[in-house]
Amino acid sequence: MSGVLRKAAITGHPVSHSRSPLIHGYWLKKHGLEGEYGRLDVPPENAERFYGNFRDAGLIGANVTVPFKEIAAKACDWLDEAASAMGAANTLWLDENGRLCGANTDGLGFLGNLDQLAPSWDENPGTAVVLGAGGAARAIVWALISRNYTTVHIVNRTREKAEKIVDEFGAGTVACDWDNLGTTLAAADVLVNTTSLGMTGKPPLEIDLSNLPAHALVNDIVYSPLETDLLKQAAARGNPIVDGIGMLLHQAVPAFERWFGERPVVTEELRMLALKDLGVNA
Ligand code: NAP
Repeated sequence: MSGVLRKAAITGHPVSHSRSPLIHGYWLKKHGLEGEYGRLDVPPENAERFYGNFRDAGLIGANVTVPFKEIAAKACDWLDEAASAMGAANTLWLDENGRLCGANTDGLGFLGNLDQLAPSWDENPGTAVVLGAGGAARAIVWALISRNYTTVHIVNRTREKAEKIVDEFGAGTVACDWDNLGTTLAAADVLVNTTSLGMTGKPPLEIDLSNLPAHALVNDIVYSPLETDLLKQAAARGNPIVDGIGMLLHQAVPAFERWFGERPVVTEELRMLALKDLGVNA
């Protein structure tokens, strides 16, 4: 390893929008490490070949963007528990035997964000309500179960997608309809929006929070805008809230530690840098 520049990259198609180079570049500088983190566009027709022959890329590891997380997971010789449960990997590395290993750190990013900004949020794990049933929802359901939430309601426009997550994760997960959201919210200790609703350029998230218990923590993983209408509405009625930018930053922590050997910290400075880069007002 000594003398060889350790290089990692964000891989996928497209990769130009990714903030990962900014995040890992910040930490490399902060820790005074001689590594590199770049962007590598992988055309869709080459994806299987690229991840299948990852050793030839000259990288010690990589992040993987949508839509290649499943292809990357299939190419791995070893998967961590989260990647294995989700069938999708967002972080890759080569181990000392040259085996391709994969992890899914999206759920850890969600947990790291709440642990940092709402310490003890999971002291009495009970019932969670997750809006959405896409890739991010799957990671968050996994994360909530890992923290012993006993019931996780999944509310999605397309009910079959919520049911698919329930089939995968089993007991404790329940598929629910938007029409019954008021009743579902009455039992919530945690409410997470994982749909793209409320994001700049997308339709608004229309939701009535009047049944939500006052103690329930509300998290929106949409971070553009940072303070979404959901968070504004929740804060106005006194619920604790956490915004979504921290999830993006925290999902990078385990990857950086794996590749470069030091555990980085999500600082206020990094949060501000990322928001500025995204053009989002803090
Ligand atoms: P995805 O797999 O495409 O899922 C999108 C979800 O939004 C689905 O549940 C979809 O419902 C729902 N949705 C979209 N338009 C809708 C509409 N008009 N009405 C009702 N539901 C609608 O996307 P994803 O990867 O899970 O990401 C979801 C959001 O989370 C995005 O805004 C993304 O930027 C954000 N995100 C943030 C982080 C972070 O680090 N903070 C990480 C990952 C993702 P259907 O199934 O019915 O289509």
